[in-house]
Amino acid sequence: MMKNIPYRFYLTEEQMPKAWYNLRSAMKDKPDPMLNPATLKPVTADDLRPVFCDELVRQELDDSTDYFPIPQPILDLYRVYRPSPLIRAYNLEKALGTPAKIYYKFEGNNTSGSHKLNSAIAQAYYAKAQGLTTLTTETGAGQWGTALAEACASFGLDLTVYMVKGSYNQKPYRKDVMHTFGAEVIASPSDTTNAGRAILAGDPDTSGSLGCAISEAVEKAVTSENCRYVLGSVLNQVLLHQSIIGLECYEAFQQIGDYPDLIIGCAGGGSNLGGLIAPFMRDKLQNKADPRVIAVEPASCPSLTRGRYAYDFCDTGRITPMAKMYTLGCGFIPAPNHAGGLRYHGMSPVLSKLYHDGYIEARSYKQTEVFDAAVQFARIETILPAPESSHAIRAAIDEALRCKETGEAKTILFGLTGTGYFDMAAYTLYYDGKMTDRVPTDAELEAAFAKLPDIGA
Ligand SMILES: *Cc1c(COP(=O)(O)O)cnc(C)c1O
Repeated sequence: MMKNIPYRFYLTEEQMPKAWYNLRSAMKDKPDPMLNPATLKPVTADDLRPVFCDELVRQELDDSTDYFPIPQPILDLYRVYRPSPLIRAYNLEKALGTPAKIYYKFEGNNTSGSHKLNSAIAQAYYAKAQGLTTLTTETGAGQWGTALAEACASFGLDLTVYMVKGSYNQKPYRKDVMHTFGAEVIASPSDTTNAGRAILAGDPDTSGSLGCAISEAVEKAVTSENCRYVLGSVLNQVLLHQSIIGLECYEAFQQIGDYPDLIIGCAGGGSNLGGLIAPFMRDKLQNKADPRVIAVEPASCPSLTRGRYAYDFCDTGRITPMAKMYTLGCGFIPAPNHAGGLRYHGMSPVLSKLYHDGYIEARSYKQTEVFDAAVQFARIETILPAPESSHAIRAAIDEALRCKETGEAKTILFGLTGTGYFDMAAYTLYYDGKMTDRVPTDAELEAAFAKLPDIGA
């Protein structure tokens, strides 16, 4: 029996999830293991421990345990900004004239402005619990660096963020938010690492890249005492932490008496979508329900829709382990696109496997059509969405309009991963009619595929 559903549905404290859900445990066919690039053998805990802290290594490699209890200090911090609301978009439904029911899970209600805080808190906690004093990371657009700065401030850890120089200069406010939480922010490439100095020697005026910032952050971590490197997406451990999003949704739908027919999320490295779908995909894998899942990516960086399913490095600098994933090639540099969080060359191995096996669909949109949806949504629902999140909005609107044609009253759930207040330069370009839609040619993609590592298989 369907209850009267409010605009904003919040779980009570008692209804809040107390454990994360490991979707890999429900997969009969597991994602292929990460490989050590030196030996081409599956990575071991010993390979990963110099880089990641011990508990996170355990989570990364465990594909059979279903639930991981969330430690109390993490639950306590989650309580500051969770549960996030499950919002019924009555106004958007009315404006579109669709019989579909549209729900979205809004993760932008914290200072970092995105879902990334869910994993940042977990990663900082485990580092502190292990007695580490310092973390390093890279950030491109700035959301991950901000989230991690917040988390490190809470647990009393030092943090060094290597921020891609182009963003460092373009987004000064992001840097100041990180400073507010006590993080050191270094424009990358920098003269603080061998990797940075080498790149600067070749090109002193470079605006940097995510791959270069990763190389600097990893080098700093492995050469400093009591220090580890952390990453905000792609990894299994990050999807595990982000399952809090899906678990809250799942419980909320039970309370409301509904269940999504269609689940939509934007996909950069895959962490929010992997978290959102976790318990619903378990139902699908166990033949208890059959929701459709759509991953939405930018046409300028189409890893699922046009990429190869192959082993590749996770970074441009080719220093990380190799993962079997849909990839555009670690050397692929997407055209400037204003959804900075969706510019990664690869995709989570978990989502890649599910996509490869036909459990999820993928589509891509050009950025002007994404911003059309962002502005329409903002005016109707009063939230100014992040460009990344707006990819999911575009797909949800299109699916709701399809329901209008067919007369089907489907239940649509999408992930609204964050707000766009630090992306106003992109909105300005859009309003000025200066936003461009660059889509890579087949030849450009082939050139990047040609440099995929040869693993002799
Ligand atoms: C980082 C980011 C994304 C993309 O990352 P995933 O790991 O694919 O979830 C999406 N939306 C926002 C707001 C982000 O900051």
